[in-house]
Amino acid sequence: MLRMVHGAALLAAAALVFPPSGGADVKPASPARAAAPAGAPTAAQARAFVEEAEARLLDLSNRQGRADWVSQTYITDDTERISAEANQALIAETMELAKAATRYDRLQLPDDLRRKLTLLKLAGIPLPAPADPKLQAELTQITKWMEGTYGKGKYCRGAGGTDCLDVNAVTKIMAESRSYDELLDVWRGWHAISPPMKSRYERFVSLANQGARDLGYKDLGAYWRSNYDMPADAFSAELDRLWAQVRPLYEALHAHVRASLAKAYPGKVPEKGPIPAHLLGNIWAQQWGNVYPLVGVPAAGPGYDLTELLKAKKVDEKEMVRYGERFFTSLGFAPLPPTFWERSLFVKPRDREVVCHASAWDVDNDQDLRIKMCIETSGEDFVTIHHELGHNFYQRAYRTQPFLFRQGANDGFHEAIGDTIALSVTPGYLQKVGLLGSPPGNEGDLEFLMRMALDKVAFLPFGLLVDQWRWKVFSGEVPPARYNAAWWELRRKYQGVEAPVPRTEQDFDPGAKYHVPANVPYMRYFLAHILQFQFHRAACREAGFTGPLHQCSIYASKEAGARLDRMLAMGQSRPWPEALYAMTGERQIDATAILDYFAPLKKWLDEQNKGRTLGWQ
Ligand SMILES: [Zn+2]
Repeated sequence: MLRMVHGAALLAAAALVFPPSGGADVKPASPARAAAPAGAPTAAQARAFVEEAEARLLDLSNRQGRADWVSQTYITDDTERISAEANQALIAETMELAKAATRYDRLQLPDDLRRKLTLLKLAGIPLPAPADPKLQAELTQITKWMEGTYGKGKYCRGAGGTDCLDVNAVTKIMAESRSYDELLDVWRGWHAISPPMKSRYERFVSLANQGARDLGYKDLGAYWRSNYDMPADAFSAELDRLWAQVRPLYEALHAHVRASLAKAYPGKVPEKGPIPAHLLGNIWAQQWGNVYPLVGVPAAGPGYDLTELLKAKKVDEKEMVRYGERFFTSLGFAPLPPTFWERSLFVKPRDREVVCHASAWDVDNDQDLRIKMCIETSGEDFVTIHHELGHNFYQRAYRTQPFLFRQGANDGFHEAIGDTIALSVTPGYLQKVGLLGSPPGNEGDLEFLMRMALDKVAFLPFGLLVDQWRWKVFSGEVPPARYNAAWWELRRKYQGVEAPVPRTEQDFDPGAKYHVPANVPYMRYFLAHILQFQFHRAACREAGFTGPLHQCSIYASKEAGARLDRMLAMGQSRPWPEALYAMTGERQIDATAILDYFAPLKKWLDEQNKGRTLGWQ
């Protein structure tokens, strides 16, 4: 599955998702409540409160992590229920502690303590719940149900509807088919899994908003946006600034791909308008790498196809993960623990339903690291593995931090680490580890950059729009009667794509994207796509590399690894600009690195696009 997509189970709070000890069967009285004395609070009381809160959340988080692991790797009504209950226990305690934390709002406190109290108030991300236990139960059951419905989603086609496609099968057809009609049929079929979610999603929005308001935030979107060490409005302004930086690059790619698809599908693609969303090789049109063969990059070198290389070497699912692990160990990180290999899910089981959506886990908030993934032998999954392992190595690097700091500097950082490593999976690297035979020259650069851009640059507007939609939904700016229309307005505005067939409010197309029913915030992936190039540029500098950025691999550079580790080990203990500084020497997120990386491609695209219209009406 898609790379960014996965972070999934990493509950926003990597932390909050995982939990540890077996412990008592009976929920002890909350120490938070017990400890709250009358009168003005003192700093000592605040510290005691935070310590108790961390212990309590660690325990509940670990229980919830185990229950969630089982429910996602063995989907049944029972595991769904058990997981919802564990989740509810964690949410209830989190919400109570978050509220209790406001008692110390006006107290003068040391930085670390103040930061922990702030993070405690934000610990309800991504799912703050109302105080009423009945409503809490309803909210967690709705989210569990939506995620389960997505996980079990299938499109059954053919005579009698006997050829049933799950998301993996759908993904494969969207990647490989060049039949306009088949693509359209499968696109419609997959988007039929989500209409049943719509009414529950409405209810979900109303309950989660109530939870956010209980903590003093305007709505769920405002609550999510508060987790970036800056005012919510300033964060929105940062996103606008970054989008403005990368938009000319996206528009150049879009114009060229549109013209290429118009040749491949005569009469089906407008010359100046948005691209039909089912023709880009991906069910959500979020990454376009699969249409590479259509975009007319002249074959310059021998070329290579990572999928073919892996198949030729008979690299199986586990061995693909070993390649990823060896990259990290080459940088100086310790190997993954034996339990990682024993407990992870690498292959789709034949006999039961699982959530295939790739994700990385730290089940005990310590060293019980795992990935859950239905791996197939492909270049795409090879990259996704690096992405997921990035989460695991981050989790382990900050495991000695206090519980509330065991998270990424912000969630975009968490998503960016593995991708940063994957940027070093260059032809030169593949040759070094024996997957690619002859040492590559520069003649294949254009091909390499185009493949990268079709994934990384094409993704940017999608990464930006999913939460633009949710933020509007949560704030009420988009009412339920406009859910689907607003979704397509944003897809048109940012991506320049449109639905291939008319849509109505009977449809619920956002629900056909995992992160919406699973309630995983999405802006992190947009940030990660900018950050990973900034990290890559800094790591390459550290490794002493001076050539074009896209040729750099930091493989085996202990210096780059040490620099990376400095940032990872900080977790969320300091505002993210400090973590960024530790890695890059820069304090602002900066899209010039992605522009540097793709500069040679941009030049080529500009030549191709002469005489063509950029953008879409
Ligand atoms: Zn991820």
